[in-house]
This record gives sequence, structure tokens and C-alpha cells, in this order.
Amino acid sequence: MYEVILYYKFTPIEDPETFCEEHKQFCKDIGIKGRIYINEEGINGTGGGTPEQVSTYKEHLTSIPGFDGIDFKTDTSEYVPFPKLKCKTRDELVSIHKEDVDPDEGGNYLEPHEWKEVLENEDDYVLIDVRNDYESKIGHFEGALTPQVESFYEFPAWLEQVEEEISKDKKVLMYCTGGIRCEKFSVLMKEKGWDDVNQLHGGILRYAKEEGGEHYKGKCFVFDDRLVVPVNEDNLEPIARCEITGKPADTYINCANMECNKLFVCSEEGAKMMEGCCSEECRQSEYKRPFDPENAFRPFRKWYNYFDEDFKERQLEEEK
Ligand SMILES: [Zn+2]
Repeated sequence: MYEVILYYKFTPIEDPETFCEEHKQFCKDIGIKGRIYINEEGINGTGGGTPEQVSTYKEHLTSIPGFDGIDFKTDTSEYVPFPKLKCKTRDELVSIHKEDVDPDEGGNYLEPHEWKEVLENEDDYVLIDVRNDYESKIGHFEGALTPQVESFYEFPAWLEQVEEEISKDKKVLMYCTGGIRCEKFSVLMKEKGWDDVNQLHGGILRYAKEEGGEHYKGKCFVFDDRLVVPVNEDNLEPIARCEITGKPADTYINCANMECNKLFVCSEEGAKMMEGCCSEECRQSEYKRPFDPENAFRPFRKWYNYFDEDFKERQLEEEK
């Protein structure tokens, strides 16, 4: 068994480039794989390895001044769900495309048990899923607003759209996968005038561990090679449907047409029917990857290795 961790920490880093180089070297030395972003605001990472590697990593990170008390969301996995280690500096730890969003100005933390209490004992609140549509589609808290956005930086525009509809006196409850998106989005909501803004501390992943996922329907999308993980072990019924067969499903694949590459909900049956494609048109494409039922559910990141040179060049041309 391997361990997978998800974590972030807002703490000033004076020289992010040097910090990043050293951190990357340390991860390489101990064999941790994953995706880690660093900037002057702090660190945002997800990674995996053996329990020993992960424990060495956590010890190292939390021993750096300013990095104590990190809330590591930990899960186990039968494999390390990251192809390699990516550790780099980035303009934003989480891309909302807005500067000066100071998490210190954010909402009130609700611990998972407090969150559950509010859901069970109160009813005058608005519950917001601060994730993308393809994430909330396969699982979300009952009664949540699930914005139809494809990336986090569309959230400020979404908020403008719904601003008139959500009373400023309303209690706001928001959640995301591990908590970092709420750290930023709660600041925006407070700036706009909502006072009672609350965020699920540790996100869905910690709630699942501590409260067993009650009041959450479906599963949780994760940004590693597993793509989807269970939340409530007592209820594993998919809430989404296979886009090919229409039957309940919550597995994702990327369309096998490399020009399309769309991430869509697809069952094994549907994948076989359409050879991994999202539509008949894609199935006819000359850029269709050969269909391999064994690897049909491998995430798209890996598929990029299969892009043929000609296709890559055309993409580059179009981007110019
Ligand atoms: Zn397609």
C-alpha cells in the first residue's frame, strides 16, 4: 500500500526559486512523486509514495520554519497515482487569476463535525461547491449550488452572476476538495459583502475521513491518476451517467480522439462501444488513439506521451 497526500500552507517564502530547487532535490532524493507548486505565498502540493517516504517528507516539510501544523489529507492507494515528480514555482498557488487575495481575510473554518452539525440543525444557508463542473458532477453535498464552470478562475465571474440572488445576510457554507480553493474564494465573498462566510476545513477529503461522508452524494474527483475516490463507503452509487450508454457511472476517460481529448463520464461498456471516444465523429477521426481496453481508464496526462509528432506540430501552429 502507498500513501497519497494533499496539503497546502500559506506562509511567506522569501526566495521561492531557491526554496523550490532545494525542495525538488529533497523529493527526488527520497523518491516522492507528485505535483508541488511554490511561490512567495507558500506551498500547494499533492504527492505519494510508500508510508516511509511520505512520513519522511512530512517530517522534513513541517520542520522548516513557518511550515509547522500543516493539515495533510492522507489516503491510501494500491499504486502511486503520479507518473513523476513535478515541483515548480508558479504565479498563483491556486489559479484564480487575481492578485492580493489574502487567505488571512478568509472565512471562518468549520471542522468536519461542526460542518455536519450545521447541515443537520440549520436550514437557512447557501451551500456552495467551489469546484469545477466535472468535479461536482460525480459527487457533491446534498443541496449544494454547483457552478457550471470549467476552471477555478471562472469563479469570480460566476460570483458576479449570482450576486443578486444570494442575500448578503445569508450564512454561506463553502467547500472544495482539500480546502485551498475556499481559502481564496471566501476572501472574494467577504470583499463583496457577505459576512457569515464559512469554509469546510480540510475539504471533502478530511470530512470523508472524519465523518464518513454523510450528506455527501457520490464520489470525489481528485487531480491524480486515480481521478475518482470514494467518499461515503456506505453509499457508492454513482450519481452521474455514462455519456455513451446513459447508465449510472462515475468513471472518467479522455476522448481517444487526441484532437478532442475531452474528459467525460464513461462506463467500461460505453468505452468499448465507442472505442474510448466521446462521439461517432471522434471515433472516425484520423487522430484517434488505438483503443486499449486495459488502459482505457488511464488519465489523459499519460496519453500526451502518445501524441504523434505531426499532431504536436499542428497544435503549436494553431497556438501561434
Ligand atoms: Zn471527442
